[in-house]
Amino acid sequence: MFATPDGDLLGRTWFDQLKKHDARINGLARRLQSQEIRPNRSRRYRARVTTFRGFIKAEIGRVLNRLIKMKRPAHIVVEKLDFTAPGLSRRLNRILARSGRKVIREKLKDFEERYGITHREVNPAYSSQTCSNSHCGHVAKANRKSQAQFACASCGHKIHADVNAARNLESGRSAFDRTAHLTKADSLRLTVHRHLERNKTRGRVTSAKVLHSPYYRTVTEASGTPLIRKFTTPDVVGDVSAG
Ligand SMILES: [Zn+2]
Repeated sequence: MFATPDGDLLGRTWFDQLKKHDARINGLARRLQSQEIRPNRSRRYRARVTTFRGFIKAEIGRVLNRLIKMKRPAHIVVEKLDFTAPGLSRRLNRILARSGRKVIREKLKDFEERYGITHREVNPAYSSQTCSNSHCGHVAKANRKSQAQFACASCGHKIHADVNAARNLESGRSAFDRTAHLTKADSLRLTVHRHLERNKTRGRVTSAKVLHSPYYRTVTEASGTPLIRKFTTPDVVGDVSAG
């Protein structure tokens, strides 16, 4: 599924289709394996995988085309190119991850060549756990209630989790350019730092509950370490957050 900062969720009907392909592909693989036949040796199996790849290509193409038409972005920031879904077999998730990544990269390259729309892949660390509310920016594991639900433990902001992540990418909050080469720990430190700075410059008091939460404790205890790298806020118009 794709989410945009405006709250669009595209590809919501995919899951039922994926389940059908999963039953066809994984079911056949298991039957073959019980007969001690390697699935890849079966023409029928390979044909089903090819059909599935065709489905992924067509669907991702359709959704990305729609996204471009709707948003007319000058630049696209892409998060999480690993497509996997809970509730699907490992076999199907593996095929999905590989083909999905390839299809998206090809499509983005095509957009760049045809329309001059540039793109960038970012490190999505903590973007799903950080509050996108403009007044907030609180980061905590508990903010992400479920795959679909985000509810901020600090300000109470409730939003679809993928839309929340997309907004963080758009605003440059909590997700960083790959070229910045941030470690996960650096990403967290910077996300917490930004939240605390935002509160400070706006004259807000950071609650004790937040300051004593696990992420904040780790960061404030390690304070004094300068944030040496420079970061730029991406000028994002469109975002793709796949989950
Ligand atoms: Zn919040």
